[in-house]
Order: sequence, then C-alpha cells, then structure tokens
Amino acid sequence: MYADGIKIDPSRIAFDIDGVVADTMSLFLSIAGDFGVTGIRYEDITEYDVRKSTGLDDDALTQIILRILSGEHAFSLYPLPGAIHILKRLNKRHRPTLFVTARPDAEHIEEWLLARLDVSPSDIEIVATGSFSDKKDVLLEKGVSWFVDDRLETCFVLAEAGVTPIVFNQPWNRKPHPFLEVSSWNEIEEMINF
Ligand SMILES: [Mg+2]
Repeated sequence: MYADGIKIDPSRIAFDIDGVVADTMSLFLSIAGDFGVTGIRYEDITEYDVRKSTGLDDDALTQIILRILSGEHAFSLYPLPGAIHILKRLNKRHRPTLFVTARPDAEHIEEWLLARLDVSPSDIEIVATGSFSDKKDVLLEKGVSWFVDDRLETCFVLAEAGVTPIVFNQPWNRKPHPFLEVSSWNEIEEMINF
C-alpha cells in the first residue's frame, strides 16, 4: 500500500525501538559471533525468529538477548539511518514522543535513546510491555492511531485492534501483508504533518 497524501498528526504516531529506531539486528549478529555464528549477513535474517536463520540454540539465543537488553557487550548499538534526525524533528513538534517496546524493561534502551536524541527524560516516554500482544493496549490507551513496527505479526494484532500499523521494511518482514510500509525514515518523515 502506498502512503500518498497521508499526513499524520505528530501526536498520533508512536514507534517500536528495536529494528525501527535501533539497528539491533546488527548488534545481535556481532554478539552472535561470540557464539560461533559467522558468515550470516543481515539480509540472511528472513524470519523474525532468528534461530531459523542462524542455527542458534535456545540457550545461546537467551544469552545474546540478555546481553542486548542489559547493554553488557563489547559492541555498539547504532541508530538506523535518519531515525535520530527525524525523531528530533518530531519531538520539537510534540512531546513526549512515545515508544512502545516488547522489551521487559526500558532502563538501558531509555538511556541509549536519551543520549542519542539529546533530550530530557520528560521529552520521551518509553513503555516496555514485555510482550508483543500488549502493545495494542498501550497504544489504544494513549490515543495513538499509527505505529511503526518491524514485526509483521504485531502489525496484524494492531490492525485488528484499530491501530494503523506502518511496517518498517526489514529482511524478516518481507511477506505479503495489506499494510502501509516504509523503507526508510525519510519515508516516515514525508508522512508526518510537520
Ligand atoms: Mg522491533
């Protein structure tokens, strides 16, 4: 579906973090190298369940995820291109900018976002649901109409609940779906009524 003519009110859009704002998959692959996963490229991750593309077992996967969540690793987590610039622009128009993540807690990623965006803690709000299915409840409660996410299954749940999903294109969501999709933050910027 194309986004021609859509103009989203800055107060009505919210964002997932991992795979949308943060390049968490690149970090994942860096850490996975410590677990013997080599030669797997970003574009090889064609399923949200990374075990299928990497051959990692549950125990290794859990350890990698724990490192990502805690920030205890030797690598850097980078933002996706354009994300910070456009979020800063959005934050000037409406505060707090809302992020809803399925991470179990927001502590580490909140520090990361605050440092990257260079804003005060009160300028952003991060809700960590601990579950993909609970995102919809947060969004409905906060009056959010549009949500950018990279997990297709979540987008179907949101749409069902009445929140319009915008799929952020990633190799792991390249399956047929009826939703709006964007390939870059510039495309998100074009959809916002600044
Ligand atoms: Mg995500």
